[in-house]
Amino acid sequence: MAKLIDGKAVSAQIKEELKETVAKKKQQGITISLAVIQVGNDPASSVYVNNKKKACEYIGIQSIAYELPEETTQEELLSMIDDLNGRDDVNGILVQLPLPGHIDEDKIINRISPDKDVDGFHPQSVGALCIGQPGFVSCTPAGIIALLKRNHIEIEGKECVVIGRSNIVGKPMALLMLRENATVTVAHSRTKDLKEICKRADILIVAIGKPKFITEEYIKEGAVVIDVGIHRNENNKLCGDVDFASVEPHCSAITPVPGGVGPMTIAMLMNNCVESVKQ
Ligand code: NAP
Repeated sequence: MAKLIDGKAVSAQIKEELKETVAKKKQQGITISLAVIQVGNDPASSVYVNNKKKACEYIGIQSIAYELPEETTQEELLSMIDDLNGRDDVNGILVQLPLPGHIDEDKIINRISPDKDVDGFHPQSVGALCIGQPGFVSCTPAGIIALLKRNHIEIEGKECVVIGRSNIVGKPMALLMLRENATVTVAHSRTKDLKEICKRADILIVAIGKPKFITEEYIKEGAVVIDVGIHRNENNKLCGDVDFASVEPHCSAITPVPGGVGPMTIAMLMNNCVESVKQ
């Protein structure tokens, strides 16, 4: 039976460690604060924002919430970011995505000061990751590295296949695995012979966005499988991009959905907030 990689347990451990660090910083008179901006009231975004606020509260990070109406203009949002960039009492700025259609997300992300870019989406943060310089790293891929390391899964020298090349998951994931000295292949929708490529992987990281797409035919015996996908199935239950029942018997370790990669994203966001004091 494959080892279950427990993201809930690892994220709880990281949050405890961060809580201690934040308490020590408070004793030194240093408070950490995160500005969280939501535009409109998309229900899924509200859930994410609330979870982030709760995590801040638990760890001892001050969250400053801005709930802006759907009609907020791009100029208004840019001017709010300028204001937050200039405030010494704000360490991190997070703009919840997606934004309403009349606002250009790239323009907004690019306006956040790179030293407050706790989501790690700013081109400067991505560029720094690419050339091996310090900077914020996108939370989900950073969470996957933490999951692998804390489960003592060796990365160096391993064949790693990342399926997906999005800016928030696939690309930073591939760069992080490269930084950890894996041999990395990135697959995407135009990749030919996906099954054959996946079968080479000692570590297969799946971020396709298609429920239960990866079945046992894609798996090398004994591989480690990381499932980034989150979907609701026909019974309204959560499932991933990996068909867990089919894949699990063939791998050495696997992340479940829910309870695998999902909980790590917020833990790493909190980690970035704590790091923001150093940036
Ligand atoms: P995305 O932007 O839709 O990217 C999907 C990627 O998969 C694209 O690069 C696409 O290739 C590739 N792809 C699609 N069909 C394919 C196929 N048949 N064969 C090979 N590659 C294929 O998705 P994302 O934002 O990266 O997210 C991926 C999944 O992770 C989603 O289920 C999302 O909900 C989940 N997610 C979870 C977390 C978390 O905290 N756990 C965080 C973020 C995302 P092209 O580039 O060629 O189109």
